[in-house]
This record gives sequence, structure tokens and C-alpha cells, in this order.
Amino acid sequence: MTARTILSFGLSFGAAASAFAALTPAQAAEDPAPVMPIRVMPINDHLTAFYQGRPEERSVKHGPKRWPDLGAIFVGVATYAIHQGDTAVVYDSFTDTGSAQWVRDHLAKAGVRHFMLVNSHWHLDHIGGNAVYADTPRFASEATRTKLVAKQAAIEAGAEEGPPAIMPLAVPDIGVTADTTIMVGTVRVVLRPAQIHSADGLVIELPGDKILLAGDTLEDTATFVAEPQSIPQQYGNLSAMRQWGFTKILPNHGNPEVIAKGGYGLGLLDTTRAYIRRLVEHAHDADFQKQSLVSFVGDAVKAGDVSLWWAYNEAHANNLAVVAKAWKGQPIPGFDKLP
Ligand SMILES: [Zn+2]
Repeated sequence: MTARTILSFGLSFGAAASAFAALTPAQAAEDPAPVMPIRVMPINDHLTAFYQGRPEERSVKHGPKRWPDLGAIFVGVATYAIHQGDTAVVYDSFTDTGSAQWVRDHLAKAGVRHFMLVNSHWHLDHIGGNAVYADTPRFASEATRTKLVAKQAAIEAGAEEGPPAIMPLAVPDIGVTADTTIMVGTVRVVLRPAQIHSADGLVIELPGDKILLAGDTLEDTATFVAEPQSIPQQYGNLSAMRQWGFTKILPNHGNPEVIAKGGYGLGLLDTTRAYIRRLVEHAHDADFQKQSLVSFVGDAVKAGDVSLWWAYNEAHANNLAVVAKAWKGQPIPGFDKLP
């Protein structure tokens, strides 16, 4: 931690820290090549997006798919760095150490010497390259940290989502339980727990830029529903997040053209809210599992709030299936009565 780093409130340091003390970045980076080329997108003088994937459908080979393809590469994946002088906060580590090392090397060439990693949540496509930051402070929500400690053996064995294994997994060592401010030079970086998409979510707000780094809480074309039972709570939490004051949103999975131009407006958040609400409200329809992604987001596409991307048809089909199962026989809540 540098002298210029100010941390406040809500931290708990886990025992996992010592377990990784012996791991060096050189050891971690066994495969130095990223799984896909990475595009560098400067957002402003202290925020950079790194973008990978989103191939055209016709270029994707048939055959069995692995979790990095389905979770990240096909829909496209961005990670971010907030940097000033010799210090950077990196938000998520891609699916593999090769990609994470590429980002670290890029920042090091620009003069960064002090790194901090922040994980948005526990899903594997956000933590695959964590080992590259084994020698640095690694932040996540305390819920993420606890979950990854419990799942570490399975993830390192390639048994959580199937291969590839993440070996070794550098579990976050600093658990955040409340809004936490990190200063990167003069840039205020606020880590904010947000129970949206997954209960362990941790987003980053840059109040000086009115920017939200949204992790997986928001995606273009549509959110991936991982925890269908809590959709009413997530709907309320999205409403609360909307009041924070940001005007631009940079998600981990989105359209690279929009990200390169500085991000989405609040329409992405409103579209996400409407999408998850509609999923639950229609969960008992006889034809529910045949309802297309376009039928859910067509108006938002016309308004320019989101864009259709082929790989989200599969995510949407998955969303229909998990929502139908979770809400079968359950009363549908009145969303208008929710916050
Ligand atoms: Zn996720």
C-alpha cells in the first residue's frame, strides 16, 4: 500500500493473504499470451478500458464450448484500470493469466508500479487472471472473498464450471463490507457493495467523473440472471443505485463501440430493470420459454439504450429457463409496490 492510498471503513483482512505471499507474478504467468487480442480504450486521462472478444457469430466454430467462451469471450469482456502516476486500481482480471499479465505489462510500461486489484464478484470470468496480482492487495466484497475461499479447491481443479481450471486462484485478501474509498493520486475511487446480478457484487463509482463501473450488474444486450429468486430485491437495488449520481455506465460485458465512446447512459439501467421485471411477471405464461430476446428489449434497442448481440440469445434462453424454474408455483410480486 502506498502512502498516497487512503482506505476508509468496512474492511476485513482474510487469512488468505498469507497463503499467496510466496506466489510471484512470474510464477503465475505461465501462459503469457492472452486468449484473445485486447483492445485498449482510453476513457479519460485516468481511466482505461481493456476489451476482448465479441466475435461475429459466423466466425465461431461449432463444437463444445468452455466457460470463458460462454461467459465472456462471445459476449465480449472489458476490464478497467483507474490510474494516476505510479498507482493503478485494476477492476477484474479477465478469464486467464495471459490476458491479465498483458494488462499489467501495459500499465507498467506507462509507469505504474503500485497495483491494487478489485474483483466485481466471484464469477470465474472476472477472477481468472487474479494470480497475476498475487503480490498486490486484492479487494472484493467480503461475500466474494468467503465464497472463493470455499470454492477455491473446485475452481483450481476445473470442477466448478468445468475446464479450464484457474490454477492457482489468487483469492481476494481484503473483504469489503461497506462503501470504501481508495485514492489513486487525486482520483477518488469508491468501492460499493451492490446486490445485483449476484449477492456478492461490488461496483466502483468515480464520483469526480460521474461514472459507474458496473461489473455484471448491467450488461448490453441483457443481464445474465444468476440468482433468479432475488430478482425483486435486485429490482429495488437497481432503483437505489440509479440515485447515486453517475451519468455514464461502463459494464464488463457490453458493446465495444459504446464503451470506447465513454459508456452508456442511465437507459441501460432502466432497460435492465424492465427486463428482469418482465421475466418474473411473465414466468407463468404458457409460452414463456419461447419468448424472444427481441420481445423483451426491442423498444430499448429502438431507443438506442442497448443493442442486439447474437450471443445474448443463449443468455436469454438460459434466463428464461432459470426464472421459470425458480418462480414455478410462486406468487408473482407486485413490482409497482417495490421501491
Ligand atoms: Zn457474473
